Amino acid sequence: MTTKRTVLVLGDQLNTGIGAMSHSTPDDTRVLMVESEATISGRSFHKQRLHFVLTAMRRFARDLESSGFEVDYRISDDFRSGIEAHLAQHKPTEVVATEPNSRRIEKLLADLGVGFVRSNQFLCHRDDFADWAGDRDRLRLEDFYRWQRRKLGYLMVGDAPAGGRWNYDHENREPAPVGMDTPDPVESRLDELDKEVIGALDDNLQGAEPIGLWATTRRGALARLRHFIDEVLPDFGRYEDAMLSTNWAIAHSMLSPYLNIGLLVPGEVCDAVEEAYLAGRVPINSAEGFIRQVIGWREFVWGIYWLWPEQENANELGLRRHVPPAWTGEGQTRMACVSDVLSSLEQRAWIHHIPRLMVLSNFANLYGIDPRRVRRWMREVYIDGADWVMGPNVMGMGMWADGGRMSTKPYVSGGAYINRMSDYCSGCEFNPRKRVGDDACPFTTLYWAFLDQHREPLAKNARMARQYQTLDRLTDMDAVRDRAEYVVSAVGDGRL
Ligand code: SF4
Repeated sequence: MTTKRTVLVLGDQLNTGIGAMSHSTPDDTRVLMVESEATISGRSFHKQRLHFVLTAMRRFARDLESSGFEVDYRISDDFRSGIEAHLAQHKPTEVVATEPNSRRIEKLLADLGVGFVRSNQFLCHRDDFADWAGDRDRLRLEDFYRWQRRKLGYLMVGDAPAGGRWNYDHENREPAPVGMDTPDPVESRLDELDKEVIGALDDNLQGAEPIGLWATTRRGALARLRHFIDEVLPDFGRYEDAMLSTNWAIAHSMLSPYLNIGLLVPGEVCDAVEEAYLAGRVPINSAEGFIRQVIGWREFVWGIYWLWPEQENANELGLRRHVPPAWTGEGQTRMACVSDVLSSLEQRAWIHHIPRLMVLSNFANLYGIDPRRVRRWMREVYIDGADWVMGPNVMGMGMWADGGRMSTKPYVSGGAYINRMSDYCSGCEFNPRKRVGDDACPFTTLYWAFLDQHREPLAKNARMARQYQTLDRLTDMDAVRDRAEYVVSAVGDGRL
């Protein structure tokens, strides 16, 4: 047995260009990868999520072996015992890993004496984000985004933004045409390894069987990136916020799962988008809107995760309810929007950011689910779920659980927003304009009840002033409260 150093490759860092692997050769390095049974068992992951991560890990290990690396791939009771068994067997000169993407894993590895190599998986390292945040009173996405644009040079002409504006959001809020057709997503044929992983998954996991929608190799991820740039990106901008019952992907990239486990890195994705814009194949509002998502929002969320660990357990509004039975497959819902979004999630482990924010997180807030339960649930059912994503996205943006540190006001709305941005309401038994009566939209009823119930602390927020002026003019609030009580009880026992 040769004495070498060990590089521990984590399941969300599957790329030889990332951190520790980028300085490794088969001559000096043995690779360790660990599948932890404890991480998987006892939790309600979506079947496609587990298949995606585990298959991608095993394929990455095989690719490394083909490149000459010796790979110790362990399936262990838990992560710690897998590493300890490796240490006992191989006695490496040292063990290093790329800085982990999770606080929990970082602590566990540090306790085991694992050394860390600086990560280049994000364009803004967490230390650089902390420097940027400095002693600013308020961290605004827009400030961070412009700082990133200038630093990285995307869509810049000298020191000015290409097209003359930093932001094309106003052009990116169109509802999609009813019946809009878009190119079919790329799919891969399932092979023996896919079947082996699927066969080993617990029968009780939620969600539909994998069908090859999600790539599990870098090659497959690059093919999906190409497809997005060539076929889909031109329409991304204007329909970015739209939802359709007949088109679940509209013009979204579906690339976040690959970015989140390292099969793609953000720089190459943004390079490809910028190149398509410069070649005149993509309008500025689509190119800017997409690059904003990657170098702006995604990296902002990443930085916040490390900067504010306490955000993960925040619950400013004191919400206590459980995730409703319709969300866990134990009940039904008659709300057309929620039903369609949950069904899409069940089939693919993915929905785009607007149903995540304006249907599920919005409803979670209005109905009053404990945000920590929402964070756990979303972490398990989304194909791209990760601690660093779900903490800030749910606690900061989706549910305002951090009291407005990240978003100045809660993203709550009644049925009017969903009606404007989708075709759901035309096929629903409820009326988005009504807040009382048997056919009142549950979103609309709960929206007014939510404002009423959380007057303190929301009414003092200047950005909520208009909503509270309207609330104070309503003369039917007793009936709204009665209806809200019925809605909460009916959703809780799966009748609505
Ligand atoms: Fe959803 Fe309300 Fe519209 Fe029905 S009426 S689809 S519940 S927003």
